Amino acid sequence: MTNEQIVALAKANYMDNYAQYPIAISHGKGTVLWDEDGASYLDFVAGIAVNALGYGDEDEKEALLKVVEDGVLHTSNLYYNRHAVNAASLLNRLAGSKQVFFCNSGAEANEAALKLARKRGSAKGKTRIISFNHSFHGRTYGAVTLTGQEKYHKGFAPMVPDVLYADYNDLASVEALMDDSIAAIFVEPLQGEGGIIVAEQSFLEGLRKLCDEHDALLVFDEVQCGMGRTGRPFCFQHYGVQPDVLSLAKALGGGLPMGATLAFERAQGVFSPGDHASTFGGNVAAAALAEVVLSKLEALSAEVDVKGRYFRGKLEELKGRHPDKVVDVRGLGFMQALDLSVSVRTVVEKCMSKGLLVTSAGYTVLRFVPPLVASTADIDKAVAIVDEVLGEDF
Ligand SMILES: *Cc1c(COP(=O)(O)O)cnc(C)c1O
Repeated sequence: MTNEQIVALAKANYMDNYAQYPIAISHGKGTVLWDEDGASYLDFVAGIAVNALGYGDEDEKEALLKVVEDGVLHTSNLYYNRHAVNAASLLNRLAGSKQVFFCNSGAEANEAALKLARKRGSAKGKTRIISFNHSFHGRTYGAVTLTGQEKYHKGFAPMVPDVLYADYNDLASVEALMDDSIAAIFVEPLQGEGGIIVAEQSFLEGLRKLCDEHDALLVFDEVQCGMGRTGRPFCFQHYGVQPDVLSLAKALGGGLPMGATLAFERAQGVFSPGDHASTFGGNVAAAALAEVVLSKLEALSAEVDVKGRYFRGKLEELKGRHPDKVVDVRGLGFMQALDLSVSVRTVVEKCMSKGLLVTSAGYTVLRFVPPLVASTADIDKAVAIVDEVLGEDF
């Protein structure tokens, strides 16, 4: 099938809830993707920060083939499977957490965190939750309520009750809401969809202190910024501020749907059998790929730390060359962004026509989340294309 045929079939059969670009992805190798008409693209989107190992990774292929040979893709949580327990033990070792709950997406990981916080809190008369303006936590009702952006709530009221919003990197705005009725604070240590906004050290330290003082849980949503993306296995490790609960998804399952909610010491033992569940949670094939990604995570993130600094330097140079169009450069590791004064959708489309996939975060921010295996040569090529696009009149 051609791109055009696939787009026509989609328009005839899909709900109209996405603004999709008119290409269909056919196959990939390394950091390169091909569409159904044979055009190739250097990929700096990675399926929205999912495909950490790029395309056609040999270890992922071997792990998946082994699962297929065993013949069991799914067991349910009535029974154990070795891949999921190995993935959980790797997660606890790498993050310093104590207990893991597996699910299938970022929204679900945050739903589990929300239920955990409410269950722990309700025994002590705490039900209220603080989250942040410009945050993003997913699209299910709990997760979208936590998401502090009006555009995601519009038309869907009423939201889940007892969620309050403070301003990111503004500790005073949290202090104004904080008291003993607060069960948890939900925060991304690096805001993603809200525009790639890096947390200040004193902000995360202040949140930790407030949670300690009021016996609330500090929940870090690292669905996007976790799993090596920022140059550490987990973003919170840049700050030395430990959460009580950590949400993960995106890159965790090596391209298969997988989420996880990690409980640290203070959030242990909240759930009892029957409190929470997910039919597909800990799915055998997804967990087998998670084992591969997690076994490489320390080495991968160390490389991202170095390559991320190189990338950042190149983006700063771009800002210097295009001061009229680039307002700001932000990010950590391989989660970088250019804040633009021109239409980001136009830039994305122009890059695509020149063979580079990039995406937006909000209305003005051009976001770069390449596979973690992207090389400095890939970075040079991507930056050259963006440079060319920003040099055009529009
Ligand atoms: C993508 C994202 C989510 C939602 O994940 P889904 O898998 O789409 O449900 C939640 N939080 C953050 C920070 C994200 O980037």
